[in-house]
Amino acid sequence: MTATYTHTFDTPVYKGTVSVNTGLFINGKFVEPVLKQSIETVNPVTGEVIAKVSAGTSEDVDIAVAAAKKAFKSSWGLKVPGHQRGRMLGKLADLIEEHKDELAALESLDTGKLFLHTSKFEVPTAVQVSRYFAGWADKNYGQTIETDESKFAYTRHEPIGVVAAIAPWNYPLLTSFIKVVTALATGNTVVVKPSEVTPLSILKVAEYFNAAGFPPGVVNIVNGYGQTVGQALADHRDIGKLTFTGSTLVGRKIMESAAKTNLKRVTLELGGKSPTLVFDDADLQRAVTGTVLNIFHNSGQMCTAGSRIYVQEGIYDRFVEAFAAAARGIKVGNGFDGNCDQGPLVSEIQMKRVLGYVESGKAEGAKVLTGGSRQGDKGFFVPPTIFVNTTPDMKIVREEIFGPVCMIIKFKTEEEAIEHANDTEYGLSCQVFSQDISRALRVAHALEAGQALINGIGGGVGVPFGGIKQSGFGKELGQHALEAFTTVKAVHVNL
Ligand code: NAD
Repeated sequence: MTATYTHTFDTPVYKGTVSVNTGLFINGKFVEPVLKQSIETVNPVTGEVIAKVSAGTSEDVDIAVAAAKKAFKSSWGLKVPGHQRGRMLGKLADLIEEHKDELAALESLDTGKLFLHTSKFEVPTAVQVSRYFAGWADKNYGQTIETDESKFAYTRHEPIGVVAAIAPWNYPLLTSFIKVVTALATGNTVVVKPSEVTPLSILKVAEYFNAAGFPPGVVNIVNGYGQTVGQALADHRDIGKLTFTGSTLVGRKIMESAAKTNLKRVTLELGGKSPTLVFDDADLQRAVTGTVLNIFHNSGQMCTAGSRIYVQEGIYDRFVEAFAAAARGIKVGNGFDGNCDQGPLVSEIQMKRVLGYVESGKAEGAKVLTGGSRQGDKGFFVPPTIFVNTTPDMKIVREEIFGPVCMIIKFKTEEEAIEHANDTEYGLSCQVFSQDISRALRVAHALEAGQALINGIGGGVGVPFGGIKQSGFGKELGQHALEAFTTVKAVHVNL
């Protein structure tokens, strides 16, 4: 028998009782792991344990992959037409929408995120993503290609087979769910490994797969540590594709494993150190609002976080003053209180990591304008922290911090700003603020990144997302994501 965790919320923004099964989800059922191990999840607001969640090992991965392989051959893959897969994804979206506040509350409890953000953005985006890929399920077809009069050829977009999806903790529901629905829409079966730090929301979603009509084995969830469950997935010979979101360090290991085992296809959504460029002709208010959101949202725990803010000399003083005032105005606290703008970091490890970077910035001679130390002694709170007087070689300027920490750097010319902005091993995102449309586009094109945001932040599940350089490769969301989950077969017909 697997355990169920129940939590009663009695907060200003949400009241209700939510239960979630904490077992592994394999072949349509919640089961105990072979070795009966568990991992504790921790509430980032208090530092107290929330629940013990089953932790799998390579034995459980073997069982889950075998279930997914069998389901692919017997009851999924090419056996189920796209329109039926789309209908199930639509039903899944409806079920999530019906339970949206429960799911949002659980996600906020596990991550420390503001309930406002999980209930108004993250869970609704999951619903939208499921509906979006439901629409693609019967439209991902090939082409007819003329060769000569005695022949014709056509292509088919075929599913790959068993897909492994490994997710991080910063957007636990969205990062795993986007991978799952794209895999299902394109006819693959899936084994998901959530982050061991935040497994609760995807386990809650597991309850809806059977009700939405997905046959047993089509979706499987194996929680556990990266070195055991994650590594076993990366090494598995029956997995045809692995889609990963996480750090560049682990992404590299996954690629190595894929190369050494069965050359499984890999897509990697990795880290970032994204630049923001604010030009003299920018709308100051817009630039401040967009830049604040792009670095401090989700406590800065975003792969796209715009942590390097380059500001042209003519607007620099006014920008720094307005940006620092906005950062000081951010109220940091419990995301269930209803009066906060920023929650804690996800874990003690992450808080210590971020504070370690802050100390390194101070030690290397950068000046802290606001923030710069832990808030309180309970929970994992770090307030918005701004550095000035940095140099390009400082650790805080070069490495991903993954917290509410940024630096403001003065520049003179467009060329100089582009050169500094591109001086990074990463290439995930960039932001440009200018009211001169020609300049904004010219700079957006010159910056080395998978996405460019002009005069604000991004959005839209139909827009492809993914990095270049050491931020990874392969796109999620949008039509381009379908390519990453299918193979193209060419069929030649002799008339
Ligand atoms: P992480 O790389 O430590 O872990 C990510 C996942 O990989 C977890 O589920 C973990 O258990 C697993 N893992 C760890 N070791 C593994 C191994 N040897 N083999 C297989 N799996 C293993 O990352 P994190 O700390 O959870 O998340 C933060 C990182 O994720 C940041 O670098 C951030 O930039 C990145 N991220 C990128 C995107 C994107 O879309 N580009 C989105 C969110 C987060």
